[in-house]
Amino acid sequence: MTHFLLQPFDKFVKLADFSRKAIKRCCSGDRAVDLLFHFPTSLQRRSDDANNFTDKDKLTVVLKITGHAQPRFKSSPYKVYGETPAGDTITIIYFHYNAAYVRRSLPIDGVFTVSGEARKTAEGIQMAHPDAIAPAASFQYYVGSEPVYPLTAKLTNKTLRYAVNALLKVMPEIDDWIPEDLRQKYELPTFTEAVRAAHNPKTSEDVMLTNPARRRIAVDELLTNQIRLKQIRESMTRMRTEPFQQTNEIIQRLRLPFELTKDQLSCLEDIKKDLASGRPMNRLIQGDVGSGKTVVAFISALIALENDAQAALLAPTEILALQHFYNIKKMSENLGINVDVMLAANRKYRFEQIERLKSGETQILIGTHAVLEEEIEFKNLGLAIVDEQHRFGVLQRLALIKKCKYPNVLAMSATPIPRTLLLGCYGDLDVSTIKTKPEGRKPIETIVIGASKIDELAARLKKMDSQIYWVCPAIEESETLTTVDERREYLTKHFSAEDVRALHGKMKAKEKDDIIRKFKNGEFKILVSTTVIEVGVDIPNANVIVIEHAERFGLAQLHQLRGRVGRGCDASYCVLLYRYPMSEVGKQRLQLMKETSDGFLISEKDLKLRGAGDILGKEQSGFNTLKFSDFSSNEELIKIAEEISRVIDDKTAEFLYKIFSRINEDVVA
Ligand code: ADP
Ligand code: MG
Repeated sequence: MTHFLLQPFDKFVKLADFSRKAIKRCCSGDRAVDLLFHFPTSLQRRSDDANNFTDKDKLTVVLKITGHAQPRFKSSPYKVYGETPAGDTITIIYFHYNAAYVRRSLPIDGVFTVSGEARKTAEGIQMAHPDAIAPAASFQYYVGSEPVYPLTAKLTNKTLRYAVNALLKVMPEIDDWIPEDLRQKYELPTFTEAVRAAHNPKTSEDVMLTNPARRRIAVDELLTNQIRLKQIRESMTRMRTEPFQQTNEIIQRLRLPFELTKDQLSCLEDIKKDLASGRPMNRLIQGDVGSGKTVVAFISALIALENDAQAALLAPTEILALQHFYNIKKMSENLGINVDVMLAANRKYRFEQIERLKSGETQILIGTHAVLEEEIEFKNLGLAIVDEQHRFGVLQRLALIKKCKYPNVLAMSATPIPRTLLLGCYGDLDVSTIKTKPEGRKPIETIVIGASKIDELAARLKKMDSQIYWVCPAIEESETLTTVDERREYLTKHFSAEDVRALHGKMKAKEKDDIIRKFKNGEFKILVSTTVIEVGVDIPNANVIVIEHAERFGLAQLHQLRGRVGRGCDASYCVLLYRYPMSEVGKQRLQLMKETSDGFLISEKDLKLRGAGDILGKEQSGFNTLKFSDFSSNEELIKIAEEISRVIDDKTAEFLYKIFSRINEDVVA
């Protein structure tokens, strides 16, 4: 019988169809485990004392409705007056109201439990758009602390809580895969206990990794990762490879428009040695944003080609894959080699593409996750390059290695990680570093301003006559975040409509490509986009980047985004627009961005500031493919996971893969 965790959650929880769909979307899956692994990120306190509540609390009161006041103008709020049993008057306020609806839900003389964000004003306590209106008798249900879950569109915290609790009620005791002695040694609760406790935080510390329940789940995830790393290591050592020598047969015709930097050259030396050794290469190139990793990878690919092998380059987004394709095409102009690109979107040519790969006609294949699909076979893949390595899960790397005839892997990353942690995330690999950037780069000036100054900013930008990236955090997800379309709309008040174009991850590959190309050609001025432009996009003539809700992004991600500018010869600017509320950590991050552009320093600080719970979702966390922990801050947990991994048998390993798979192997693009 299918394990409880792997069965659909709606088998155990009664839900309206649209709720089920919304939960499925929110938890990225429909299995019990998908819902159970969707943990709260904070705790909301609801006070029952109208005379004593703080800014952070919500207020719950029993109200007898005493009056309604519909304003003369639609632009003013609708007010409902009510009285508490203690005799305090509270005003409920609705903007953009539907008067009939309000009158129906809060009729005069009715008595209700009302709960929501409240403010003390000169005219008494006001509560705008209460988040609960319930019968007076359910008062107790809205007092105290409740877990707050990350939500997506069309889903309320209440519905999600209901579903989780209903599922927890029927969850059986699950056989634990971590033996008791190890659990005791590391003070880990059982899996069942951990899941229950993680959904019932008592204090705001309980949603952090320091909480034993969260630690346990993190260990399980890292454990799964460790088992996979072992698998990769084993399969790589089983495979043989042949020494590749640089013959210069192709490389002698290569004409680059620049000289390679000293660090690029020494990286290449490392790679040449690896490839000539006859043992599988497993090397990571670390180099700050814009340090020129791509060309190093390209030359390495040419060495593989000179030895009659093929090369593949895997990129995390379609935009980036296409960009690599165009650049590599250009650099290969007079080399007489065949380069192809494969995206999930263009299925039309798939069959021919596979034929050309199998016959060896295609020598370099660039692509997204589409390259990893089962049906994609190479004739003799001799070098697998993974760009922006941190965006890929272990399983994806494994899938690529399995396609290799000669298992040589070259990974690239702009996010430097301490050596000890490298072992935890990537297993055993060698590292080369590009420290210096190509000469002639102008520093980027970083400006931090409040979002209320947006009009002034737009006016200034208009005068500058620059090409501008304008980044917004989401497309439709939530109302409080500025969306790409809204922002485009706004900007057309300052700029002509043809000068502002929008780009987001959900567009078709061809559309995205078209827009990026036009932007590169200077055909329009402002590219409003989500973070799809985050990694790797290289458009030298754009010299301003505006990042909205900068306070929500992690440092690594801000640095990546900022790295989109400063690539040409003009002075460049990065404008960080923030909004309140902003956490202390958020403030420190923005300050640091202003102070330094040293990627290594930034990632060092990032490790220290991380984990304060302002994660926007896994795409935005910028760093890793883990959901419950983070390679960078969990050296201790990685060690524990490593120890436990030794006692896990193959069957359990398979089960763990299943539990964690849908979460970790999601496509990032
Ligand atoms: P990243 O390391 O972030 O992937 P890229 O490989 O995209 O950086 O390189 C950034 C830009 O620098 C590209 O436009 C590339 O052509 C250019 N570039 C690379 N190496 C050099 C060099 N040695 N001198 C001048 N420009 C270079
Ligand atoms: Mg790059």
